[in-house]
Amino acid sequence: MTSTRRRPIPPTLILWCIMTTIPAAALAAEPVRYALRFPAPQTHYVEVEARIPTAGKPEVELMMPVWTPGSYLVREYAKGVEDLAARKPDGSELTAAKSRKNRWKVATGGADEVVVTYRVYGRTMAVQANWIDSAFAMLQGAATFLTPADGVARPHEVVVDPAQGWKQSVTALPPAPGGKPHHYVAADYDTLVDSPIYAGNPALYEFTVDGVPHVLLNEGEGGLWDGPRSARDVEAIVRAEKAFWGSLPYDRYVFFNILGEAGGGLEHKNSTVLMGSRWATRTRASYLAWLNLVAHEFFHTWNVKRLRPAELGPFDYENEVHTPSLWVAEGITSYYDRLIVRRAGLCTVAEYLAGDPPSAGEDRTINDVERLQTTPGRLVQPLEESSYDAWIKFYRRDENTPNTQVSYYVKGAVVAFLLDAEIRRATNDAKSLDDVMRLAYSRYSGDRGFTAEEFEKTAAEVAGTDLAAFFRRALRTTDELDYAAACDWFGLRFAKDKPEKKADADKDKDKDKPAKAWLGLTTKNEDGRLVVGHVKRDTPGFEAGFNVGDEILGVGEDRIPPSQWSRRLEAFRPGDKVSVLIARRDRFQRLDVTFGLEPPRDWTLELLPEPTDAQKARRKAWMGE
Ligand SMILES: [Zn+2]
Repeated sequence: MTSTRRRPIPPTLILWCIMTTIPAAALAAEPVRYALRFPAPQTHYVEVEARIPTAGKPEVELMMPVWTPGSYLVREYAKGVEDLAARKPDGSELTAAKSRKNRWKVATGGADEVVVTYRVYGRTMAVQANWIDSAFAMLQGAATFLTPADGVARPHEVVVDPAQGWKQSVTALPPAPGGKPHHYVAADYDTLVDSPIYAGNPALYEFTVDGVPHVLLNEGEGGLWDGPRSARDVEAIVRAEKAFWGSLPYDRYVFFNILGEAGGGLEHKNSTVLMGSRWATRTRASYLAWLNLVAHEFFHTWNVKRLRPAELGPFDYENEVHTPSLWVAEGITSYYDRLIVRRAGLCTVAEYLAGDPPSAGEDRTINDVERLQTTPGRLVQPLEESSYDAWIKFYRRDENTPNTQVSYYVKGAVVAFLLDAEIRRATNDAKSLDDVMRLAYSRYSGDRGFTAEEFEKTAAEVAGTDLAAFFRRALRTTDELDYAAACDWFGLRFAKDKPEKKADADKDKDKDKPAKAWLGLTTKNEDGRLVVGHVKRDTPGFEAGFNVGDEILGVGEDRIPPSQWSRRLEAFRPGDKVSVLIARRDRFQRLDVTFGLEPPRDWTLELLPEPTDAQKARRKAWMGE
């Protein structure tokens, strides 16, 4: 039983649920039965016992996923497996040997069932990884469970034996029939992998929407996190997204909110794992970022967990799976996450337009348009290619990434914004991207998923117009996007389009402040050394030949201490020519530099102060007011 459930489900209802969700073949197949134990959680291990049915075969081969759905990188989960051994139910030993990097072959000795034991190390605080310590365990299916590699659909049962002092286990898996505590059953292996399991002593908040139970699990509130407020706002987001999609497609949903000072979120079919800081309810910017994360992962309940690109399923856990459509899965979700927070009334219109609160290394809020327009890689990599190459590029970023890549999250969200405006314009606000998502969901949320072509056709059908040119430019070229029509439709402008009066006032204010010299590179202080972090393409620093890792020592004949770099740049003007002394691979070298002028950061979106009545109405229909 999951101890988080307010009312126990009647056994007949459980049986009905299982009968309706488990395919007939799986009912015929014997289940795999796991036991999870934590005899010494402070050492970061979970001990796994797996009872594997053999169907009378002389040998069974077991498989561990190399990646987990939603996170497109081969992570080699088998590397966490130790001390794998096999025996018959009577205790006699069996041979188990590796047959591939992520597979093992076990001789059955004629037994109907083999008992495989192993332990898994988990001390990575990330949404795709396991964490086990003295306080709690947060386990991901792909990183924990071996399964027969025969592809037969069968139920997978799990019994959790919490460590001493841990009172709860929580998962979105339904309780196994019989009502034994900490005993769960997954209809198949996909469901098991898609159902993270928590054990520990969390703060739990329960609420129902349309009679459907939801749980917010906060691990690590630590007297800082405002639990009741977070639960109220999560409920508001659930209600807003239910209103968007029309209904809730699950029997119960769990938000695992792990406050362990890490970041990120990963969607699952009936739950999500969120990671954040327990300080986040204390400042507006960090709390808004958390609400956006909640809205984002919860939106995936529909967009990607049920309405998914055809290439992503059925899951091949042992190989990369490439799709051009992550801009739909992640970009459109990113467009809606903050919009849903706005529609739920949890942020102001100004906060919505401002964009994402600053993340590491940023000094201010940045909207997706600015993030895209200041990334040189937008002119190198088309959006669909960014999606297709996620495995080898987006998830394997290096110092040159901004020069060569565009994020399918960021450009995908911007394209979604433009597409939404395009559809609203074409239908005179009778239809929107909301309708496209709902229609696509009604058509393609079954087993097969959608192809890129089918998604585009669905959008064109809702718009009642040919969108081929729009999609070609936005998805398959690196041509710059045009924001004029969307801004005009909603009554928005970029701050650079300020009326004359205000611009003159700003000019006056800045008249005495001459422009600062600019190189277009970032620097960091490494143990008292000023080191180049990132060199943006087509900037003075790039032209002068600065490299990542160069140590900047001085300008002309003068040394520049790391703390003084920014101030010294103020002493030069765009167009000044200087010689910069650097050390590269421990050799001194001089670079001749001509300073440039930093491009204005003029992508801040704001409302037109005097919108037409039509623009007012469109804004209201778009983001609520
Ligand atoms: Zn996402």
